[in-house]
Amino acid sequence: MIIGGGIVGSSIAYHLTSAGCRNVLVLEREAHQGKGSTGKSMGGVRAQFSTESSIRMSLYSISFFRDFEERMGHPSGYRAQGYLFMATNPRQMDYLRANYERQVAAGLKTARVVSTAEIVDMVPQVRADDILGGTFCSTDGFVDPYSVMTGFTLRALDQGAVVMRETPVTAIECDAQGVAAVATPRGKVATRTVVNAAGAWSAQVAKMAGIDLPVEPLRRMLVPTEPFEKISHAAPMTIDMSTGFHFRPEGLGLLMAWNDPAERPGFNTSFDRAFIEKILTRGVSRFPVLEEAEVNPSRGWAGLYEMTPDHHPVLGAVPDVPGFYVAAGFSGHGVMHSPATGKILADLILRGTTDLIDARPLGYSRFAEGKLIEETALL
Ligand SMILES: Cc1cc2nc3c(=O)[nH]c(=O)nc-3n(C[C@H](O)[C@H](O)[C@H](O)COP(=O)(O)OP(=O)(O)OC[C@H]3O[C@@H](n4cnc5c(N)ncnc54)[C@H](O)[C@@H]3O)c2cc1C
Repeated sequence: MIIGGGIVGSSIAYHLTSAGCRNVLVLEREAHQGKGSTGKSMGGVRAQFSTESSIRMSLYSISFFRDFEERMGHPSGYRAQGYLFMATNPRQMDYLRANYERQVAAGLKTARVVSTAEIVDMVPQVRADDILGGTFCSTDGFVDPYSVMTGFTLRALDQGAVVMRETPVTAIECDAQGVAAVATPRGKVATRTVVNAAGAWSAQVAKMAGIDLPVEPLRRMLVPTEPFEKISHAAPMTIDMSTGFHFRPEGLGLLMAWNDPAERPGFNTSFDRAFIEKILTRGVSRFPVLEEAEVNPSRGWAGLYEMTPDHHPVLGAVPDVPGFYVAAGFSGHGVMHSPATGKILADLILRGTTDLIDARPLGYSRFAEGKLIEETALL
């Protein structure tokens, strides 16, 4: 049984049923899937990470997105426009170079270190006087998260899964063998296997089984511009590392993002109009042409990241509660890592092991053992 029918729960349902598992049930509390973080996402997908597990998960996922339509009969909306990181100090440049080495070692072939001149070539509107260089990966880009989630769900249904919407899990019962049943307002369901794919709400679900899961919700806001032609719609996801401001083309305009360091954990998902000035200040300082972009304040939106202390997800079984699995805490990367997560969870549930990554460092036990993963989060 999978709790949560967002992109992660849907991918797990697809991968489980693809591996021959026929008794897969997804419980989703909302009337429609995608009302959690999946429907709020920016849809960015990248393999430019600094840890082997993240890079490997991206390699699996991005090739999955590329072949999605052929495989699933449903579009992923994958657009390989790249991710461009721009560094403005030697520390950032060293960080990008070190990451690049790790990416190459993990098998990524499409990333490269780029000069300031190449950056200006890619995004001529950039103010480049303090840019030292950067990295670019041509197979990074964006997907349509809602469409990916729908594709996973449709194929999982074809392969025998059942999805129950408007069915919140309200309690989890355990006995001497571990997980025994989950309770919902529609009744109780007996099960020996539960996957917690409840995103920003996964700590609440874990608590129902007496598990303390360190996943905190954190509001993130996105601001689309009105139609805007002064930056090419073929531009990559472009990240100014000096401020964290980033944007990508979306529709006829741009979609702008910036992670406000003042944001505090909580379930607030209201869009704060004062954020528009904050983001535009950062955006205009790097791309002066954005001064001319129009923003309709009513079109901005907010959603929740699901943060863990080391910005890596928690994947796999919880040893103290047999039958309880976690696939949560993606810290803003759950869309791009959803295909790999589905594969890893299906492997761990059905075989107890996976070849895709070394999943042990991402296990729940790392928090109690003080073995957090080291990564400097960029986005
Ligand atoms: C503004 C923003 C931008 C983002 N940009 C990116 C990006 O560019 N790239 C990227 O990879 N990721 C991005 N993310 C992160 C990404 O959206 C999430 O990591 C991803 O959607 C997590 O998917 P999920 O299925 O785990 O969670 P969700 O989509 O939140 O799904 C969890 C589901 O669980 C359900 N649920 C909760 N509690 C219960 C219960 N008790 N019983 C039954 N159901 C329950 C919820 O209703 C929800 O549908 C972004 C997020 C935000 C907010």
